[in-house]
Amino acid sequence: MATNIGNLAIRLAMLILFVSVGMYSARTFAQSDTRLPAINVLVFDYSNASPSVLAAAERETSRIFAQAGIRFQWTECGVRHSSDLSSACEDEPVTGQIRVRMLPHHLNHNFSDSVFGFVVAPAYASVYYESALRLVQTVTDANSNISVILGCLMAHEIGHLLLGQGQHTVSGIMQPSWDIQQVQLALRGTLGFSSQQARRMRQSTVFNRGSNRGVVARSND
Ligand SMILES: [Zn+2]
Repeated sequence: MATNIGNLAIRLAMLILFVSVGMYSARTFAQSDTRLPAINVLVFDYSNASPSVLAAAERETSRIFAQAGIRFQWTECGVRHSSDLSSACEDEPVTGQIRVRMLPHHLNHNFSDSVFGFVVAPAYASVYYESALRLVQTVTDANSNISVILGCLMAHEIGHLLLGQGQHTVSGIMQPSWDIQQVQLALRGTLGFSSQQARRMRQSTVFNRGSNRGVVARSND
């Protein structure tokens, strides 16, 4: 009997531990958790990315940042696929906002980080669609996974804004150049920020520069 009670106690303890870990994970990865710090991201698409590819790329970026404890709210500012645009797209940039430009290919410029795109602190990130396409083609002839890679490149460039420039690392999503290995990790959904980077990003001054007021946002949660 004593053994049975002991076993029961152990099982109960394991169940409590399992449920606790599950709850912690759910809290960590819940992209819709309004308690997470949020950033409004306005997207200006100058590339040939279709709206569905762009939406899927945004979902991937959101997923990566949710793992770092940061919630994104997206606003489509069209350009090529203009529709009912938020007034925020035409307003002057406000604090607490990041603006992403999706460019078709490299520009002639002197900014650093020209492999994937570039950033202009504190709030502007540009990403090259062509770079995502080239990376995808290192592992497959099909372009069906381009949205995942595009989402990872957006996360990389936005990461520069939240971490500060010159924040490349030898592993993870902030590696300065990617080959087949990083692309495979990205397609498996395992290319992300370290816990240290996540902590630093959550303390970014972007969150202190303002609020979400006045922005009509679409969330890809
Ligand atoms: Zn970089």
